[in-house]
Amino acid sequence: MNPATAIVGIVLIVLVAVVIRSMIRDKKNGKNLQCGGDCSKCRGRCG
Ligand SMILES: [Zn+2]
Repeated sequence: MNPATAIVGIVLIVLVAVVIRSMIRDKKNGKNLQCGGDCSKCRGRCG
């Protein structure tokens, strides 16, 4: 693996890690719920 390929791979891994972390954070904050966090619309069926 040449250095350029390695750098691209590292950047991709970091990007994926950031996206996954933000997804987990949103889920904890309720932003990832089907109702968008507004349980008056889903009547609590989102879980
Ligand atoms: Zn809901």
